[in-house]
Amino acid sequence: MIFEAKDLKIYYRTKKGFVKAVDRISLTVKKGETVGLVGESGCGKSTLGQGLLKILPPKTFYGGSMKIEGEELISFSENKMREIRGKKIGMIFQDPMTSLNPIMRIEKLFYETLKTHEPEITEEEARERTAKVLEKVGIEPERMQEYSFQFSGGMRQRVMIALALVLNPILVIADEPTTSLDVIVQAQIMELLNELRQEYEMSMILITHDLGVVAEMADKICVMYAGQIVEEAINEKIYYEPKHPYTKLLLKSIPNTNIDDLELNYIPGSPPDLLKPPRGCRFAPRCPYKMEICETQEPKTFAVDNTHVKCWLYSEVKK
Ligand code: SF4
Ligand code: MG
Repeated sequence: MIFEAKDLKIYYRTKKGFVKAVDRISLTVKKGETVGLVGESGCGKSTLGQGLLKILPPKTFYGGSMKIEGEELISFSENKMREIRGKKIGMIFQDPMTSLNPIMRIEKLFYETLKTHEPEITEEEARERTAKVLEKVGIEPERMQEYSFQFSGGMRQRVMIALALVLNPILVIADEPTTSLDVIVQAQIMELLNELRQEYEMSMILITHDLGVVAEMADKICVMYAGQIVEEAINEKIYYEPKHPYTKLLLKSIPNTNIDDLELNYIPGSPPDLLKPPRGCRFAPRCPYKMEICETQEPKTFAVDNTHVKCWLYSEVKK
């Protein structure tokens, strides 16, 4: 197993108490597997992505377990995490404009990144590796002399992908990698990611609010709601046989446009306050199938015909 989270908790400490942004999540990623993490904004998916790298505010609480190749990340010091970041777990962020230093030449940017993890690397070696990886993402190597502000949005995202790949990570976390791009460029970037993950046999966690985005790429999809995974199944199952009421609504609401979080308008109500989540099912206030038990007891996760679903509707099926 490349990555394994068990009963993982990531809570933000606030003056009013803990915000349970990720609450008792279990998740596995195998070699070469792409796992889609899908949900509305505020469901905890980005917290989870950043939590795996421990780049959240210093006082964030981590509980349970998250392991990369069997190594427990929760107990790692900041120094040890610095070795992991980039080298073992790469990250592709949503907005390359803010994550790329605009006043550094691309060449220097790659050199610095490589040098952090491979202090003995020469500038010449770094240049060669940079040229190779830029070519892979469809950028002419000569452009490494330029600054990131000289690139278009799509090109910047390619640079980000190349930067994540240059260290050969075993797991890449891509958080809304195409959200800020126009539709055509989005499709190109997704296609590129798809090719690269196959070529590099890379494992990937693909985070998105848009079920449409992960349709072609993810092997497995985890639907998140209010800090928890409510449904997990292989790709096709989620689309053709969704089980959790939230997944069903999410599928119905796939917009034919790419406006961020448009689906919020389609599912009535809003996600609960994670400072004080509902006692029973967190989706109960919005659920059309709500039963009595839903308001008082948190649903267990039931295994129903190769799907894992956290909903009382399936408690009979299992017996
Ligand atoms: Fe709806 Fe109850 Fe299932 Fe929650 S447990 S999703 S409230 S039916
Ligand atoms: Mg987000």
